Amino acid sequence: MKTNEILLGGCLCGAIRYQIDGAPFDADYCHCRQCQLSSGAVMMVWMDFKHQQVNWLKGNVTEFASSEKIRRGFCQQCGCSVSYRHMDHPDYLTLSIATLDNPNLVTPNYHIFTDNQVTWLALEDKCSRYPQARL
Ligand SMILES: [Zn+2]
Ligand SMILES: [Zn+2]
Repeated sequence: MKTNEILLGGCLCGAIRYQIDGAPFDADYCHCRQCQLSSGAVMMVWMDFKHQQVNWLKGNVTEFASSEKIRRGFCQQCGCSVSYRHMDHPDYLTLSIATLDNPNLVTPNYHIFTDNQVTWLALEDKCSRYPQARL
């Protein structure tokens, strides 16, 4: 994280708002097909928190089970992709960096599922790249 500013964010329509305590412990680009199809974009950019760091100020995400263990949270009104969690890691909650009021505050560290990265997207950053999940 670049500053000590408090991280605030929410969905497109404003029905969902959140505030974060502290900083994410990691952040990544994900190019997997599930992220592509759930967001309607060619990748998602995620930031990882301990569950207790995330305070929902307004509204709640509606969760979709995109696979047996994955829950993807979106706004029921505007469809914005807001959150991600893995049932095997109940302590963690992942939020979309794009939903921050200032997405410049959190920088992703690595790329996963680059096997699914669209060929016309040139990314020149120096982040590590993993063809599938990072193990
Ligand atoms: Zn919304
Ligand atoms: Zn993904």
